[in-house]
Amino acid sequence: MQTNFAPERLADPAMQASEKILRTCVHCGFCTATCPTYLLLGDELDSPRGRIYLIKDMFENGRPATKEVVQHVDRCLSCLSCMTTCPSGVHYMHLVDHARAHIEATYERPFADRLFRNVLSAVLPHPGRFRLALLGASIGKLAAPVLRRLPVVGKRLGAMLDLAPRALPPRSHLQDPQTVPAAAAAARKGRVAILTGCAQPVLDPGINEAAVRLLTRMGLDVVVPAGEGCCGALVHHMGRDAESHAFAKRNIDAWIREMDGDGLDAIVITASGCGTTIKDYGFMFREDPAYAEKAARVSALAKDVTEVVAMFGLPEIVEKSGRVVAYHSACSMQHGQKITDLPKTLLKQAGFVVKDVPEGHICCGSAGTYNILQPEISARLRDRKVANIERMRPEIVATGNIGCMTQIAKGFADKASTTRIVHTVALLDWATGGPVPAELDTF
Ligand code: SF4
Ligand code: SF4
Repeated sequence: MQTNFAPERLADPAMQASEKILRTCVHCGFCTATCPTYLLLGDELDSPRGRIYLIKDMFENGRPATKEVVQHVDRCLSCLSCMTTCPSGVHYMHLVDHARAHIEATYERPFADRLFRNVLSAVLPHPGRFRLALLGASIGKLAAPVLRRLPVVGKRLGAMLDLAPRALPPRSHLQDPQTVPAAAAAARKGRVAILTGCAQPVLDPGINEAAVRLLTRMGLDVVVPAGEGCCGALVHHMGRDAESHAFAKRNIDAWIREMDGDGLDAIVITASGCGTTIKDYGFMFREDPAYAEKAARVSALAKDVTEVVAMFGLPEIVEKSGRVVAYHSACSMQHGQKITDLPKTLLKQAGFVVKDVPEGHICCGSAGTYNILQPEISARLRDRKVANIERMRPEIVATGNIGCMTQIAKGFADKASTTRIVHTVALLDWATGGPVPAELDTF
């Protein structure tokens, strides 16, 4: 694609990077075929190519974001399906991230939208505040029929309350800094850090507990370093760069201390949405003289938990359940990190019968805060995903991202389905000597 940027605009390194991305697009339109919003809405401006044109026009002319640009960029899930499809290697993720930051800097959203986003970004990345908010939501659920009718914010409030669990599991001991040593019976193979994160340990602390049991059974010491927390992805996707960079810097500092201290073989991430962002820290801080090198080191060591299991080897399988598992590949896993077959291979090795979900490349509609901010499109994608899963008649759905788990579980609940969604690592832990995952207790 030809671009026409004034030289002074290209003095900004972020604009330089975006111009380079824009020039790789040959506007062939292949990406439209796999874009969930284009599939549902049929509007070119809700396709990757359409959004690329809108962003190009805004950046080239140095214009503040308009209502039209905001509407179509807001509807993008950042699922990155377009990046998998694109034959030309367009790095849509970096382009749309830059556009979101530009929107945040130049566009004044309506008051209610602004307030809603401020509340989400002040609460979700902080486990303590998020826990309190969810406790409040369990009371709010009683008033949901009234809240849903409120003008402007009613639908979003309703979506938020729908996603909130009825009861919260207790706080996990793994949220405190510590080192869990390799299991005594295992030959010691190395030392890894595990990301505790923000929303996941509140909604389902069992995921990291299963991961730590599995990793220590594999012979790894697992450290939870002091000072780490939210990876910054939730606010990053809202264009709030200053906040996301502050979260990222805290994590980088915490992990670099461990890397330069007793050493780390990997930084283990059990939420693929976080993994995609942490693997991109190197790019995020490329112009920061104090953090560029450290961020690149962290990104190089960041691994999804399935990658770490493959690196060090699955322990002996002691429980070959033979259960039928449909594997739902989170967008951040397959499109963001390009991890496609590995989780399925591990599940098969662990004794599960693994099936693919039809239309597996299409997003379930979770996408960070998307299911709260765009509840209608999100619900349509969720229902489509649940229908595709049910066609395989699985007993269990496995996935590697808490956002997808919450979203799809809501879809199953709406249909009174008995199918359960479980994190891949909880199934691997079960097969190698861990407890039956809590979600399957009622089977
Ligand atoms: S597939 Fe790639 S090159 Fe073709 S229009 Fe989409 S982004 Fe541009
Ligand atoms: S990231 Fe997903 S929703 Fe956004 S343009 Fe690409 S395919 Fe469409």
